[in-house]
Amino acid sequence: MNIHEYQAKEILRRYGVPVPDGHVVYNSNSARDWAKRLGEGPWVVKAQIHAGGRGKGGGVKLARTPDEVKKLAVDMIGMTLVTHQTGPEGKHVKRVLVEKGCNIDKEYYLSFLVDRGTSRVTLMASAAGGMDIEKVAEETPEQIFFESIDPLIGMAPFQARKVAFKLGLGMAQVKQAVPLLMNLYRVFVEEDCSLLEINPLVLTKEGNLLCIDAKLNFDDNALFRHRVIRDMRDYDEEDHNEIEASQYDLSYIALDGNIGCLVNGAGLAMATMDIIKHYGGEPANFLDVGGGATIERVTEAFKIILSDAKVKGILVNIFGGIMKCDVIATGVIEAAKQVGVKVPLVVRLEGTNVAKGKQLLAESGLNILSADGMADAAEKIVKAVRAAA
Ligand code: GDP
Ligand code: MN
Repeated sequence: MNIHEYQAKEILRRYGVPVPDGHVVYNSNSARDWAKRLGEGPWVVKAQIHAGGRGKGGGVKLARTPDEVKKLAVDMIGMTLVTHQTGPEGKHVKRVLVEKGCNIDKEYYLSFLVDRGTSRVTLMASAAGGMDIEKVAEETPEQIFFESIDPLIGMAPFQARKVAFKLGLGMAQVKQAVPLLMNLYRVFVEEDCSLLEINPLVLTKEGNLLCIDAKLNFDDNALFRHRVIRDMRDYDEEDHNEIEASQYDLSYIALDGNIGCLVNGAGLAMATMDIIKHYGGEPANFLDVGGGATIERVTEAFKIILSDAKVKGILVNIFGGIMKCDVIATGVIEAAKQVGVKVPLVVRLEGTNVAKGKQLLAESGLNILSADGMADAAEKIVKAVRAAA
């Protein structure tokens, strides 16, 4: 789960991490009022969307007077902001963060993430901050360094000092960096983050370290123990179908192609996408119904796939283990009755109760192409979608 920058900063503040004073607002009059309440200018007005790259896209602007803050808020609230992370359709801006501006001397990059290779939390840092870290990684990887953290010991002070020295900080700043890094690590662990990114961490002309941008992602499986974070969820920022699916305990991922995929298990989902691509097709999404889905959940799953206008054909690929093929078949038939299937539908069933499942589909009167094996299924759906186009 993602949250907005201003929410991430509220959390950081609670852990004693230095962030600028600021307040989120939903209209331009409050933007001006808050600018005055925050004290002296300049101020920064920042569009709050779940995407980065706002600076270059016109979503981060500096103001010298409270009236200028208001004017920027008028322009920003309601705009569609396009950045390299939003895709060409952009994101609708509903709220902006009004913040005290700072005099930047230097920008750094910091992040904590889970390194699957070492099964540890890793701190990634670079003195080349402010810009795209992907670009730095590609062009000058030697400018990025890593510090792996022992889960039992946690972030040790010597590790924080090492990172601070590698960033080229002076003694006065190393003293600030050590508690800053240790507190960020505490946020990561105590709040069950999957990513914590500060880009940039800045050194101000006055000699202080300050986190002026913050991105936090959370492990969905741990959200049950973080009520405060769960309440920060902004449904406007999420794919409608993904929300719908999560309410039925289904995992749905939207993609760019035109073949909808209903599968069970993440591994089978990956394999299904690969084989669709192998036969020249492009998946529109995949919906994983998991291991023990009920008829109701399968019906909802199917409805979600059908509600996507991009879907020009559906491939159901189920390996019945705990999940029984007749349950899938019943769900497919039920959903088709409720919403109607106007696109080609290929079903490949294998495993528990497969004969019963196939029989149900055959007797349903629905126009279903039955397939034997994955290759056959993929070939059939790609062909059918092409023929229908
Ligand atoms: P992003 O583009 O979405 O990552 O948004 P950021 O919050 O990282 O802001 C982009 C850039 O705006 C930063 O790298 C800074 O260079 C600049 N910026 C942000 N806040 C301030 C500020 O208070 N003062 C100044 N001078 N520049 C700022
Ligand atoms: Mn940034």
